[in-house]
Amino acid sequence: MSRLYAIGEVLIDFIPLQKGCALKDVTAFERAPGGAPANVAAAVAKYGAPSSLLTKLGSDAFGDFLLEELQNAGVDTQHVLRTSEANTGLAFVSLKENGERDFSFYRNPSADLLLSETEIDGNLFEAGDILHFGSVDLVDSPMKQAHRKAIHAVKAAGGLVSFDPNVRLPLWSDAESCRRAILEFLPKAHLIKISDEELEFITGISDIETAISSLFRGDVQAVVYTRGSEGAELYTKNGRYTAPGFKVQAQDTTGAGDAFVGGFLFHLLKREAAPDRLTDILDNYHEEILHFANASGALTTTNKGAISALPDTAAIEALMKSQQLTS
Ligand code: ADP
Repeated sequence: MSRLYAIGEVLIDFIPLQKGCALKDVTAFERAPGGAPANVAAAVAKYGAPSSLLTKLGSDAFGDFLLEELQNAGVDTQHVLRTSEANTGLAFVSLKENGERDFSFYRNPSADLLLSETEIDGNLFEAGDILHFGSVDLVDSPMKQAHRKAIHAVKAAGGLVSFDPNVRLPLWSDAESCRRAILEFLPKAHLIKISDEELEFITGISDIETAISSLFRGDVQAVVYTRGSEGAELYTKNGRYTAPGFKVQAQDTTGAGDAFVGGFLFHLLKREAAPDRLTDILDNYHEEILHFANASGALTTTNKGAISALPDTAAIEALMKSQQLTS
């Protein structure tokens, strides 16, 4: 089967044991592996497709922990390098009473940002493979160049590129630098995942349809627009497909978007969706792909954390069956 390569951030989220206090008042935290590309890689591995992460960890205890967690999740870590030049990235989180999150990131820089283009093997990828990336590692760094090289190499091999902008403003010096980096990389991707909260920020357009149309630039063939508990919409040049969300008791929405993307990409890998077949596959199989991805995202909200909250395929199928949606 084709392989997912996720490139970019892996870090430890320190989740507060108390809810409803400011970060400065939290006295105890629990560690959880995180970083959007790592979460997506773990989801794809869990659903049964080959999955690798391209990143760098510090030679510290937190790096040891993350490496073990990725391996336990079934992710291939042979391209996860180590360095003593920087520490593994950390993020401390506080949960407000209304469930919103505040972050304090420790990456000055973190080890992942030091992965350089010379450390990306240009012959790694094969036709049908998918490269997935986000925006938080597109700050000026060796890692930004590594993204450029990996994108170029996977395309040259006939693979697909998937981008989830995943806006995290505290990691940027200002909002404009974040927007600029996203707009630079967006046209290089074949598939874009964007959430309702990000669409207007990135496009500067308030009308949803117009904003989504504006994302079809460069190589973009499809846009998935996720709407939290409301589910998701998929746009291709031929149509717009809607899939309602599943009704679940949400506890913690961390990683829902990544679990959604993991479920979506798993189906594309299964169908060996090279760029010249992507639109056809999405037009023909949108229903089963969106339902699976929605169920994956929904079930992830029913447990704490991201990787640790990922459901297995049996749980996804049971949810789809219970709410009368077949895979
Ligand atoms: P992100 O986490 O990237 O901000 P969303 O919040 O839109 O993205 O969530 C991604 C997907 O996860 C949704 O499209 C949906 O399938 C699922 N999801 C998220 N929150 C819920 C929820 N409260 N109930 C059911 N499904 C959810």
